[in-house]
Amino acid sequence: MKTIIEPFRIKMVEPIRMTTKEEREAIIRKAGYNPFLIKAEDVLIDLLTDSGTSAMSQEQWAGMMRGDESYAGSRSFLRFEDVTKSLTGMRHVIPTHQGRASERILFSLVADKGKVVPSNTHFDTTRANIEHEGAMAADVISDDCIDPDLIAPFKGNMDIEALERLIRDTGPENVPLCMLTVTNNATGGQPVSMANIRATKSLLRQFDIPLFLDACRFAENAWFIKTREEGYADVSLRDIAKEMFSYADGCTMSAKKDAISNIGGFLAVNDDGLAQRIRALLILTEGFPTYGGLAGRDLEAIAQGLIEVLDEDYMRYRVRSVEFLGERLMAMGVPIFQPTGGHAVYIDAGRFLPHIPAEQFPGQALVAAMYVEGGIRAVEIGSVMFGNDSRHELVRLAIPRRVLTQSHIEYVVEVFEDITRSKTSIRGLKFAHETDVLRHFTSTFEPV
Ligand SMILES: *Cc1c(COP(=O)(O)O)cnc(C)c1O
Repeated sequence: MKTIIEPFRIKMVEPIRMTTKEEREAIIRKAGYNPFLIKAEDVLIDLLTDSGTSAMSQEQWAGMMRGDESYAGSRSFLRFEDVTKSLTGMRHVIPTHQGRASERILFSLVADKGKVVPSNTHFDTTRANIEHEGAMAADVISDDCIDPDLIAPFKGNMDIEALERLIRDTGPENVPLCMLTVTNNATGGQPVSMANIRATKSLLRQFDIPLFLDACRFAENAWFIKTREEGYADVSLRDIAKEMFSYADGCTMSAKKDAISNIGGFLAVNDDGLAQRIRALLILTEGFPTYGGLAGRDLEAIAQGLIEVLDEDYMRYRVRSVEFLGERLMAMGVPIFQPTGGHAVYIDAGRFLPHIPAEQFPGQALVAAMYVEGGIRAVEIGSVMFGNDSRHELVRLAIPRRVLTQSHIEYVVEVFEDITRSKTSIRGLKFAHETDVLRHFTSTFEPV
């Protein structure tokens, strides 16, 4: 088989700046070994996140120029509404400034003290918004799915039996809705099968509990269904996505992911009464329901992005470039969470750097080493982020959409060859200054 090439050519370029190793040593020291505190222009390859970092297409930029900035009923909103309604099949689609705004509005209406909201795995903002209302966010995933070495096609799946037990123990009247995160970002970016979505829905139907998709990466999930689940090989990505949404009663979406946009999101529901209450709250903080905190031009970019993300050439390249990075890292003995997910490679830093104990943050130490060695920025997902509750010491290399070429990825691999050779010299870290809330963003460190 031939190389799967980038299905686009480059029309506008953004320079990235080489620095010397000595400069980078000084920069990371000054940033307290925290990649969030490094200036973006001091980074060569930025793998911090795939959120809002996508490159837009010529059609998206053309849409930006056509943006209708009317306060109410703008042409851009009507296009956005048309595309999102026909994709999701939902009766009401309400724009928001990003995913967490949809979450905040939804959960302030349905969650409160004593309520439990299950999910395969909640994303951190989803969990925070549920807990902010005094409700409990429950992750319902099997032990197999969090085993980094198990090779299985759909490790993002909901544990249906555990979900049924949870609903019976909690009482269905205390479960206002159930979420399903596709793909499962907090568990290695792993997909959820159509069979699992269907089974989740059919269980919930017995208890009259609505199903909501956290649809941030719905298109990547659709690709995994097409390529891994029996019966879908000849179904288009769009039809697979439509089937996924058909089992849901609503969804939250961050357009910064699979709408290939730099900002935006939406909340979609079928329930007319709920939609009315959402719009009332939306007006309070986000804006009028035909723009929801976004410019008309943003709505154009999102509408166009939602069409382009379902292009099979795009998605084949996208998933393959992530898989390629994972394969090359494994070939040189770097342990990763297997199989590679849709948007990122998760390195098991705990096993890669066994000489650094968890209390000296092997993930954060690896993040610092990647920056010093090659100017690459990544994020720790381990004891720094989750404290003692952390199950793994991971480092996530998130791949921005349509931004990098094959040679950028090959460069990352080469940097890892150097790191692997000298990994025993990487030292653990300790806090220099620890902040209380969401400490991974702002804390500083120093070598042990
Ligand atoms: C990014 C993300 C969110 C939140 O979206 P924002 O646009 O960052 O507010 C919610 N769920 C998942 C799975 C995400 O990846």
